[in-house]
Amino acid sequence: MTRSNAELIADRARLLGPNVSTFYDNPVHIVKGEGVWLWDADGRKYLDCYNNVPHVGHCNPRVVDAICRQANTLNTHTRYLHDGILDYVEKLTSTVDDHLDTAILTCTGSEANDIALRMAESMTGKRGIIATDATYHGNTSLVSQLSKSNVPTVGFGLGQFFRFVGAPDSYRNPDPEGMRFAESVAEQIAEHEKSGIGFAALVVCPYFLNEGFPDNPDGWLKPTAEVVRKAGGLLICDEVQSGFGRTGTHMWAHQKMGVVPDVMTLGKPMGNGHPIGGVVTNSEILGTFRKGYRYFNTFGGNPVSCAAAIAVLEEIEDKHLLENARKVGAHARMRITRLAKKHEFIGDVRGSGLIFGAEMVLDRETKQPASAFTDRVINGMRERGVIHSKLGRHKNTLKIRPPMPFSIENADLLFDTLDEVLAKTPLDA
Ligand code: PMP
Repeated sequence: MTRSNAELIADRARLLGPNVSTFYDNPVHIVKGEGVWLWDADGRKYLDCYNNVPHVGHCNPRVVDAICRQANTLNTHTRYLHDGILDYVEKLTSTVDDHLDTAILTCTGSEANDIALRMAESMTGKRGIIATDATYHGNTSLVSQLSKSNVPTVGFGLGQFFRFVGAPDSYRNPDPEGMRFAESVAEQIAEHEKSGIGFAALVVCPYFLNEGFPDNPDGWLKPTAEVVRKAGGLLICDEVQSGFGRTGTHMWAHQKMGVVPDVMTLGKPMGNGHPIGGVVTNSEILGTFRKGYRYFNTFGGNPVSCAAAIAVLEEIEDKHLLENARKVGAHARMRITRLAKKHEFIGDVRGSGLIFGAEMVLDRETKQPASAFTDRVINGMRERGVIHSKLGRHKNTLKIRPPMPFSIENADLLFDTLDEVLAKTPLDA
């Protein structure tokens, strides 16, 4: 059955309910992808500057081949002996600090974070969790409580276990040493202890991607990690968006921020679109968790998922995608900085590697967010065949996060188009 765009929109509402939002005023109907390119149902080509799930490129041949070969041979759950899951966990843990040497594989990032929180409870005997007030960590009963911007109105009474600290904001509220952030974590730890709930863990994306990727200098999380450890809690780094070389300087953003987490959680890019997530930790934490929970995940770590995930790591290595992110990211930052000299509503330029963007303001002095303008800009880009999005507390930060094989030529096309769209988009409409 082939539906028109209008029929697709109506049928989504009818069959999937009202919660599933789409991007853009005029949603795109994508039917094909290859590398950094997408095609819609009318054959129109788009430059994908947003999707981090196809991390090593849409329909990456190595990943597709690995999936097909394994699906043709065997796919089953993890109660049988199989090399795939072991080969993957061995390869994955070789990229992190030595003491993070075990893992549980899941199907989603949400499940991974859910396990991480339960690990913190198992280790500390306490339940108090701290996160930033502008993040997202997933959709289970437990982790949906972490999304302060979207806290569920129901939720099994779990809300009492969560406290929040202000998300770092290098533009409006600089904290270059990370000391104020560490202090606010300490304050919330004290509140958890005072309430009798006690402190179990701090969970953060080490590059604060959902919060608008503030320009925190390398090593910025060190004072915070000290505060967490002193209080006997666990540091959970959610690398669902920031990991696998995205920032261009390190494989994992926690390495960039100068800390070793107790637990690292993974998802999105891990299988290049094939559903697989993970929790990486040390054997003591994993063992303690397993004593409290008889954890089994039917699909997590199945042979096909592991084949996809191994191919992703191989592709990052063989195609030098971390170096590519560093090189192209530096070029992108230069181009966007140049645009900021020309377009006065660019208030701030941020990012590292292949996560970069700019905050749009109505006035550079007052820094008043240009949220509606930003919305018009991303819709204007979409109309000209360039896909990216916006985010941040004020929804006024362009979020550009392309697949990792993004090239200098791709970046030039993106910024030439952005230059044109910024020049033509009215500030008030
Ligand atoms: N953590 C972060 C930082 C995320 O951005 C997301 C998804 N946007 C999740 C966790 C949840 O992952 P999933 O949708 O695979 O459950």
